[in-house]
Amino acid sequence: MAQRLAIVVEGVVQGVGFRPFVHGLASRLGLTGFVLNQSGVVRIEVEGERCVLDSFLKELAVGPPLARIERLAYEARAARGERTFDILPSQAGQDAAVFVSPDVAPCPECLAEMSRRDDRRFGYPFLNCTNCGPRLTVVTGVPYDRQRTTMATFPLCPACQAEYDHPADRRFHAQPTCCPTCGPRLRLLDSRGHEVSGDPLRGFAESLRAGAIGAIKGIGGYHLSCDATRPDVVAELRRRKQRDEKPLAILLADEHAARLLVEMDDAELAVLTSPRRPIVLLRKLPGCGVAGGVAPGNAYLGVMLPSTPLQVLLLRAVGGLPLVMTSGNCSDEPTAHEDSDALRRLATIADLFLTHDRPIHVRCDDSVSRVVDGLELPLRRSRGYAPGPLPLPVACPVPTLAVGGQLKATFALGRGRHAFLSHHLGDLDHYAAYRGFTRDAGLYEHLFALTPELLVCDLHPDYASTRYARSRAEEQHLGCLAVQHHHAHMASCMAENDLREPVIGVVFDGSGYGLDGTVWGGEFLVGDYQSFRRAAHLRPVPMPGGERAVREPWRMALAHSLDAGIEATFRAPAASVATARRLLERGLNSPTTSSIGRLFDAVASLVGLRDRVNYEGQAAVELEALAARGESDGGYPFEVLSGEPLLLDPRPLVRQVVREVACSVEPARIAWRFHATLAAMVVTVCERLRALGSPSVVVLSGGVFQNAILLREAFRRLGEAGFRVYRHRLVPPGDGGLSLGQLAVAAFRRS
Ligand code: ZN
Ligand code: ZN
Ligand code: FE
Repeated sequence: MAQRLAIVVEGVVQGVGFRPFVHGLASRLGLTGFVLNQSGVVRIEVEGERCVLDSFLKELAVGPPLARIERLAYEARAARGERTFDILPSQAGQDAAVFVSPDVAPCPECLAEMSRRDDRRFGYPFLNCTNCGPRLTVVTGVPYDRQRTTMATFPLCPACQAEYDHPADRRFHAQPTCCPTCGPRLRLLDSRGHEVSGDPLRGFAESLRAGAIGAIKGIGGYHLSCDATRPDVVAELRRRKQRDEKPLAILLADEHAARLLVEMDDAELAVLTSPRRPIVLLRKLPGCGVAGGVAPGNAYLGVMLPSTPLQVLLLRAVGGLPLVMTSGNCSDEPTAHEDSDALRRLATIADLFLTHDRPIHVRCDDSVSRVVDGLELPLRRSRGYAPGPLPLPVACPVPTLAVGGQLKATFALGRGRHAFLSHHLGDLDHYAAYRGFTRDAGLYEHLFALTPELLVCDLHPDYASTRYARSRAEEQHLGCLAVQHHHAHMASCMAENDLREPVIGVVFDGSGYGLDGTVWGGEFLVGDYQSFRRAAHLRPVPMPGGERAVREPWRMALAHSLDAGIEATFRAPAASVATARRLLERGLNSPTTSSIGRLFDAVASLVGLRDRVNYEGQAAVELEALAARGESDGGYPFEVLSGEPLLLDPRPLVRQVVREVACSVEPARIAWRFHATLAAMVVTVCERLRALGSPSVVVLSGGVFQNAILLREAFRRLGEAGFRVYRHRLVPPGDGGLSLGQLAVAAFRRS
């Protein structure tokens, strides 16, 4: 006897080919009924024999590739005896639980079509389907349909329309679908914006092979590209882009091309080839042929595989040459994503532009990940990831906007138990980045149909994001909650690991505004989402010259060695050293800090690695690379001074480092011992805290835990000491993950 089920599927289920999937499944099993989108969920009614319905439910629970099913509920209904299974028109609703999908790399079926000579999309760089293609970057409104994407100005041709209308087709309701007849076209422009005749792709590829620097329109913004094997060309790109040493990413065709340049294990391969297509940091093979200037002083190479059909075609056209693929901007301004803006801003950098007429609505930079202990560790969560939902430990009582920090900014919208973290917004010091931040916050509120009633920000009064939250709260009469920086880091790691119990939060970073107004960054916090106490921290030292000490690590070497009562030598002008000494002696312009990031700077300078940095965290990145070459043995002494809070005293470590440098111990060995000592410090302090009654659950967060050696060593040693240890896998340990922690804290405090 026929039975009927009414099913509701929630999660990321719209814009991911769910209805054709259900239609195909029901038709294959000979079931009747219907499927439709309603208020952000998929509703299905299906009728047939009980055992067939069971197999339907089983396969339904798997879903199509891009779907993320969070809830699947069903109940019995009276049978109706229909003849067919239909896809019914969408029903919009009031309180739609809307999700917007991240952008997805081309799927195997689309790539096969693009390579088949007799296919009507042969060689067409904009093909896509329900399983792949642009999403976040082209959506302009909700509900998600073609009229509310940047494809609205490209009417479908009859052939595309037929696919779009046919329920069994892979392109059924694929909103951005198109073909050479009806879709966007490539154009090649010179640096003055004049169109270059001939085949755009071939012309661009030939120029790159001849040593030109090109700008190419990607999925979420422009990239700058050139031959990655030519040192002169890479150096010229750096000169024009005014980017001294920050590593550049390279684009490669596939796994095989990658294996020629870098080492990787299965976990790294899985991240590299995932449809999210992040840049993955992978160990450079010696003599790999990529110009040294691509990632100077770095043991790793940032590698990505194509995230668009256009990148696939470009790599074919350059004969598989490894291409630099770096963000289309000057220095560290936001990436250009609008055509006229790109032409204007990149005209002095790029010799030519490979562009097209599909507008980018949301700027979205490439994501960056690495793999530590077989698990992904996101460094920048952006294209391919944002704005996929992340879990919150409790529901937000009201729609909430958390505005994050200042550097590597992201914001997050909270609705129920979902956090929607934005793409990477860059450093809000730049006015253009700040403008992007306010514009994109408005856009997300529109896309997710969410009007914040509560704002959450950092405690730092001078962060641009804090000022935004405070003034908006005042204007709109909204609540505004400030969360301490390191508490937000700790909460972000707790939230992504779904922890509810109190923890020890080991939070190491460059800087964050402390409760006492000083710069924190080597913190052991004990608490939960609601509250925390500063149970231990690195013994503070002054930063001679304030912000200058961040750019000039020798200043931190001076501060730490003087503090440790030992004389070291510095490769800095004698006059500058003398001035810095005077600042320290008189306590002028020398704010104190407990930052582990600054301790990294000090050691990097002491071992002779670096006295000046060109980008945030450079000294730490290079010290890690150096340590990776060192023998893994030994460590340095340190002390934990009793008190409330406990003080982690690095002076014995600093003295020993200075002595070993004087005895010409190999720098790589010192670098490794320094990492090992930090891990040992983490364990010792956590053990002391546990003995004093703190929990035996530890979360590791803060930008310093981007460091694979430190993360691995601390994680392992804590585990051996009987702690339950958690780390980041979903959001960056650095400030890019702050907004998630802010949301989690706000949800708890307001519920
Ligand atoms: Zn596809
Ligand atoms: Zn078409
Ligand atoms: Fe931080």
